[in-house]
Amino acid sequence: MLLDTHGRRATDLRVSLTDRCNLRCTYCMPEEGLAWLGRPELLTDDEIVRLVGLAVRELGVTDVRFTGGEPLLRPGLVGIVERCAALAPRPRLSLTTNGVGLARTAAALRAAGLDRVNVSLDTLDPETFHRLTRRRRHADVLAGLDAARAAGLTPVKVNSVLMPGVNDTEAPDLLAWAIAHGYELRFIEQMPLDAQHGWQRDGMVTADAVLASLRTRFALTPEDGGLRGSAPAERWLVDGGPHRVGVIASVTRPFCRACDRTRLTADGQVRNCLFAREETDLRGALRGGADDTELARLWRAAMWGKKAGSGLDTPGFTQPERPMSAIGG
Ligand code: SAM
Ligand code: SF4
Repeated sequence: MLLDTHGRRATDLRVSLTDRCNLRCTYCMPEEGLAWLGRPELLTDDEIVRLVGLAVRELGVTDVRFTGGEPLLRPGLVGIVERCAALAPRPRLSLTTNGVGLARTAAALRAAGLDRVNVSLDTLDPETFHRLTRRRRHADVLAGLDAARAAGLTPVKVNSVLMPGVNDTEAPDLLAWAIAHGYELRFIEQMPLDAQHGWQRDGMVTADAVLASLRTRFALTPEDGGLRGSAPAERWLVDGGPHRVGVIASVTRPFCRACDRTRLTADGQVRNCLFAREETDLRGALRGGADDTELARLWRAAMWGKKAGSGLDTPGFTQPERPMSAIGG
C-alpha cells in the first residue's frame, strides 16, 4: 500500500511518458526554450512496464493514467498499454491527451486495452485555439475526439482550462457542444504550473466564475448531494440530468484531503503531489540493480512523506521547478 501520515492511500498512478509536446498551451509551456529530457534520461518501455507492474502487484495501485507532455508522441505507447493491460491484477487504464493524432491511434489503443480517454480542448473556435496553443491543430483534436468515441473509449471526457480575456466567455457554448456530442466536460482551474511562472491568482478564472457563467444558460444541481469523495471534479447535473459537467477547483476548493494520486515522471522520479518540491529517484535505483522489494520500499517512503496539502494557500508557496508538461498533468 502507498500510505501517508495523513491517512490517505494512493491507488491512482499518473505516468508521464514524455515531457515533449506538439502544442504550446500558454498556461503550460513557453513558445520555445524549454530544455527537453534526453533519451537516456527517459524510462524505457520495459522500465515503465516493470514499475507499473510493481505498483499494481505490490502497492495497491488500481488505476493507471498515461499522460505527459503529449503521450501520443511516445512511439511505444500502444505496446506499453498492451503490456499494462496484461498485468495481474489488471489496472484500469486511461490516457490524457491533447487529441492531436488520436484519430490515427484511437482504435489501436482500444484494441491494446485502453479503457478511457480525456481529451483537452479549451475552445470551439480555431482562431482562439491558435492563440491558446500556438498551433493550428483544432480540426485534428475534433477528429481525435470523434475517433475516441467511435473506438469505444468511453466515457470520452473533455478537459477545458479557461483563460481570462481569451476563452472565458465560452463555458456555456463548450457545455452545449459537449452534450450534443456525448462528451463529458470538466473545467479545470488554471494552476501555477506553467513553465514561465506567469500564473497570478487574481488573473485566473475561478470555479465560481465558471459556474456563474454556465448558469446563464443551464440549471445546475449538485450530483450526489455535492459529495465528491476522492474525485477531484465536483459534478453537476445539467438541466436535471442525465448530462453532467465537472469543475476541478484545485486552487479555490482543493481536494487534497481526499487525494489518492501518486506520480511517476518520464525520467523515473516519484512525486507524491503535483506541487511537491521533492522527488524520489526510482530510475537510479532501478538501473543500479535494485530488486522489486527495494523499489517498493522507496516508493512507499516517497508517499509516506506527502504533505497534507498543496500549500497553494500558504504565503510561502513556491511553484515546483518542473512545469506541468514535465511532471505529467
Ligand atoms: N498534453 C496532454 C493534454 O494536454 O491533455 C496531457 C498533459 S497536460 C499537462 C494534462 C492536462 O493538464 C491538460 O488537460 C491541460 O489542460 C492541463 N494543464 C496544463 N497546464 C495547466 C495549468 N497550468 N493549470 C491547469 N491545468 C493545466
Ligand atoms: Fe502540451 Fe498538454 Fe501542456 Fe498543452 S497542456 S502544452 S497539450 S502538455
